[in-house]
Amino acid sequence: MDMDDNKRRRSMLIYVLIAIVVYLAVSQTLYPNLVSSQVTETSYSQFLEDVDNNKVVSAEIDTSNNEIRYTEGTGDSQKIYKTTAWPNDDSLATTLKEHGVDMTASIPDTSGDLWLYMLIAYGLPLVGLFLLGWWANRQMKKQMGDDGPSMNFGGGGFGMGGGLGRSNAKEVKGEDTGVTFKDVAGQDEAKESLQEIVHFLKNPGKYNEIGAKCPRGALLVGPPGTGKTLLAKAVAGEAGVPFFQISGSEFVEMFVGRGAAKVRDLFKQAKEKAPCIVFIDEIDAVGKKRDMSINSNDEREQTLNQLLSEMDGFDNHKGIVVLAATNRPETLDPALLRPGRFDRRIPVELPDLAGREAILKIHANDVKMERDIDLSVIARSTPGASGADLANIINEAALRAVRYGRNRVSQEDLEESVDVVIAGEKKKSTVLSEHEKEVVAYHETGHAIVAAMQSGSAPVQKITIVPRTSGALGFTMQVEEDQHFLTTRKEAKDKIAVLCGGRAAEELIFGEMTTGASNDIEKATQIARAMVTQYGMSDKFGMVALGQQRSRYLGGGEELTCSEGTAQEIDNEVQALVEEGHTQAMETLKANRFKLHEIAHYLQKKETITGEEFMKMLKRDDGFAPQFSGQSAQ
Ligand code: ADP
Ligand code: MG
Ligand code: ZN
Repeated sequence: MDMDDNKRRRSMLIYVLIAIVVYLAVSQTLYPNLVSSQVTETSYSQFLEDVDNNKVVSAEIDTSNNEIRYTEGTGDSQKIYKTTAWPNDDSLATTLKEHGVDMTASIPDTSGDLWLYMLIAYGLPLVGLFLLGWWANRQMKKQMGDDGPSMNFGGGGFGMGGGLGRSNAKEVKGEDTGVTFKDVAGQDEAKESLQEIVHFLKNPGKYNEIGAKCPRGALLVGPPGTGKTLLAKAVAGEAGVPFFQISGSEFVEMFVGRGAAKVRDLFKQAKEKAPCIVFIDEIDAVGKKRDMSINSNDEREQTLNQLLSEMDGFDNHKGIVVLAATNRPETLDPALLRPGRFDRRIPVELPDLAGREAILKIHANDVKMERDIDLSVIARSTPGASGADLANIINEAALRAVRYGRNRVSQEDLEESVDVVIAGEKKKSTVLSEHEKEVVAYHETGHAIVAAMQSGSAPVQKITIVPRTSGALGFTMQVEEDQHFLTTRKEAKDKIAVLCGGRAAEELIFGEMTTGASNDIEKATQIARAMVTQYGMSDKFGMVALGQQRSRYLGGGEELTCSEGTAQEIDNEVQALVEEGHTQAMETLKANRFKLHEIAHYLQKKETITGEEFMKMLKRDDGFAPQFSGQSAQ
């Protein structure tokens, strides 16, 4: 957000500079004489002397204010003088005539004219400057929403209107959020916890009578896209109360001191509309632990303090409930989590198999589908997908149907869009050479065979060597048969072996390595490291936690909590685990070398084969029945 701030300031500065340049250019080019010409006052006797010396070229007599304006010299060296006329000097005309001075009487009111010129010369650019300022201000407001900030150039002459410190909270009437719990699939526990808040918002009086204190705030915690915002809206919808939404990042993107003002304003609005819901999205942006970083910390802290004091301060009789969402609960300042603030924590988890199917069903209602659609297949092939991903899959499928000129979404559309959302769009423009295709085919078949030869691995659903926009040149999709929540040590090791299968196949067949395995290597290392540092699965360290995950949801890596010497040993242990997986994969492939050839060639030709085709080929007894290696049967 700092970036945006700077950008805005810079563009503001540019507007001002442009204005000044325009002003100078206009005044200098259009009215050079007026701006630079000087009228010198002289005495009447000086004037007469100049006339006598034949210096005066022309003279104008302004009878209205008894002024004589005269010029000396011509062209660039011309000078203008003025003097007060001597009353009733009748001889003047004769004298001027004698000296050949160009005489004008009853001259136009030059001083008035000068005023007009001055007005144009200075006024016009000023008006332009105002217009420019107004435009710049509007431009900025557009960027920042309706109540964006205003800038006041103190003595600079032009101010820019706009309410200072108004919050951007969008108020949506509860009835109008149009969302109820029915629109949120799964998340039953979250809904149950929120039910009490709904009840309270509907009849705050009952709670007051008994003297029960109601929750002031609840924190919705979960990975992105799991429906936290949706749930908050649903609470408002269920209770039929207004819904104020603001994002934590909006608080801190402003100029210093504005965040706190915004919080104050937000709660002022909320108090007027109570009972109501105040929803603060991405609260971690304001509510981060007060740490050491220097960057805009002050601003955030002020905002946080204001938020805390507002939450302590409001009179809860009327029923204001503050809901907040975050995917980084561990970064929140403990002060936020104290009783009376966000003391309730409502986990909003990634959907399980049943949850995924329910979410798909809800979103499938919005699009026209063919009759024989099986959403459970889609649900099974999308482990780890969030609600937002699933909604996206349905939408992608609808887009695809339109692209192919159909008016209903087909099963194929859905399956294809799973690939798009999970693995990235098919990339038609990447043209692989035949040799590269062969390598990729062996690589993917390697993964698939190692997976198939293990008892515990998820079955292969699909193998493809069509490049994806994500950069993957192919992939092997495995689908768990059912949901399970625990991973055994053997399963983890098998996973590593499957990940090593691609590289192992390349080495076995071509005797060389390619860069195609980088993603596999990264994942395998991650699993091995977690086994050692988090899950206590290594023989060497046993059940000692050696690391702490930084962010559970964003895969933010881990922080080692051990000595340096131990870190070295951890590395060795991780390396040994991956090596073990590699050996296991190699042995499996060696034992099934002929199947590897057969399937890889078929894949190279067809580019995509289904799990069924794959299993049929693998199991077909053509003298090369699959060989389970000793290792994988361990
Ligand atoms: P978050 O706030 O947790 O990042 P959102 O509430 O913004 O996630 O969810 C994004 C979109 O994903 C929603 O608008 C909705 O379409 C879809 N979605 C997520 N979870 C669910 C769910 N449980 N049921 C139905 N739709 C969901
Ligand atoms: Mg959200
Ligand atoms: Zn691979």
